[in-house]
Amino acid sequence: MHEVVGNMHMHTRYSDGEKWHAEIAQDAIAAGLDFIIVTDHNIWVDGVEGYYANEQGRVLLLVGEEVHNPRRQPQASHFLAYGAEKELAPFAADPQRLIDETKATGGYGFLAHPHELPESSLLDAPYLAWQDWHVEGYTGLELWNYMSNFLDVVKAHLARLPVQWRWLAKVTAVYLALNPSKFITRPHPDTLALWDKLLSEGKRTVVVGNSDAHGTPMRFGPIARIIYPYDFLFRAINTHLMLSEPLNGDLAHDKRLILSAIGKGRSWVGYDMAAPTRGFRFTGQGLTKGGVGDEVRLDVGATLQIKTPQKANIRLIHQGKVVAKAENETHLTHIPVEEGAYRVECSILYEGAERGWIYSNPIYLV
Ligand SMILES: [Zn+2]
Ligand SMILES: [Zn+2]
Repeated sequence: MHEVVGNMHMHTRYSDGEKWHAEIAQDAIAAGLDFIIVTDHNIWVDGVEGYYANEQGRVLLLVGEEVHNPRRQPQASHFLAYGAEKELAPFAADPQRLIDETKATGGYGFLAHPHELPESSLLDAPYLAWQDWHVEGYTGLELWNYMSNFLDVVKAHLARLPVQWRWLAKVTAVYLALNPSKFITRPHPDTLALWDKLLSEGKRTVVVGNSDAHGTPMRFGPIARIIYPYDFLFRAINTHLMLSEPLNGDLAHDKRLILSAIGKGRSWVGYDMAAPTRGFRFTGQGLTKGGVGDEVRLDVGATLQIKTPQKANIRLIHQGKVVAKAENETHLTHIPVEEGAYRVECSILYEGAERGWIYSNPIYLV
């Protein structure tokens, strides 16, 4: 298997981002990514996919779409589509139809930033969580979205400000914006709980982690800043894929490999800013063998093995419960006795506190 690192949620000037595709590709190369998928709001941009290169390297740029119904208020329930190869915005008013249309074309769909804190009167940021919980058949959940997480951090701090200190709201927001790494800790607990619930019910559910980069300039009094530049976010929360073959530079071939790994959940979410997660491995073996996203037979000799690129607190989770763990280790082995999805969570110390680091998609014991 061959590991590639990418980011699958970002915006260009075609919607509300600040840069064009070719410029974002340069930022992705600078950050060391292998691929990016651009997901403008309600527009599928055709004709820009391909390899973009400079003297530092190259990156594969693919195009997906982030779809929502612009007529609903707030404009919540954002849906990320990959590999659909057509414009999906006309289906936005009916989220189930949107999912079905995505699947019918061979594409994969994810609920974007499904949980967020409620709106704050002190912050100009709409509530964009998923609302249409009756839907089914989606590929998975965007477990960790950096920008959504950052806005939650700001909302949580503003909510704790006593009324008489509300004049401090702007200063608080500036402080948080200048020090995001001190406050980004883990994905939204409701999204983790939902994922465990779906897996416990036998619903195979893939998670991805993304930047949601826009490159938006913000002004806080005398301080003007880009919150946050594309290349900063491309070094933060990424999705790592395990491909069945190496990328060979051919667009159609490489795109097929990447989309297939996304759909099967041969992947994990890595907070690469805390420490690179390249090299993490989660495998199962007995009479049959497999890696993350695969099925492995639950025979008496079956084992699950986890290896991390540096020491971490490792937890193996089955039906929402920790069934094995290791503190400050690089390896964990477990002999499973029950069928079902087994997923891995790792945390490490970073910026003075324990941070979520790796959230691996499951291996399915059958
Ligand atoms: Zn969104
Ligand atoms: Zn977005």
